[in-house]
Amino acid sequence: MSGGGDFKNKDLHRIRFDRGGNGPYYTRPMASGLSDRIDCSRLADDAALLERHYPLRELPRLQDLLADAHGSVRARFAFARMGDGRIGASIAVQAAPQLICQRCLKGFAFTVAAESEVEFANSEADARADSPREIYLMEDGSVSLRELAEEELLLALPLVAVCSTPPTCGRAPSLEERSRPFAALQDLLKKT
Ligand SMILES: [Zn+2]
Repeated sequence: MSGGGDFKNKDLHRIRFDRGGNGPYYTRPMASGLSDRIDCSRLADDAALLERHYPLRELPRLQDLLADAHGSVRARFAFARMGDGRIGASIAVQAAPQLICQRCLKGFAFTVAAESEVEFANSEADARADSPREIYLMEDGSVSLRELAEEELLLALPLVAVCSTPPTCGRAPSLEERSRPFAALQDLLKKT
């Protein structure tokens, strides 16, 4: 795990949480070895803005999708208490993982720059059913920032990773396509 940094004002998220009159709370860059689990309620009361960088190899749920585990994800979290006392965060992730193309099985860089909002809840039953935000479950009021960043990164990746448009993807033609190069044309001629 490597360090983090402070937010600049221009990086503030669009999220319109009620910050309860508190000014933003800027954290110092994280020293390695600090606990990754954070108290959601306390950070929301502080309107905390955090930034973390995680090597992709430290994100276990990502590994099957990666052609190689080089690189890192930059994650920024803006915690806030909403008007009704609930707590949430806006999370922005940036990364360029080397994904495996599902067509040609080669690695390719996929650029991710995504942002979403979550609402924290202690249980599914506790979550507000009509929340417009993704519900993220806490454990005893806390979450792992690394797991939260991993979740947001996974949500931002394509369901089926494909390196580029078909004409330029490095896909090898299948045997059937090689042996019947004019099949489509012949089918068309039969119909006319
Ligand atoms: Zn490909």
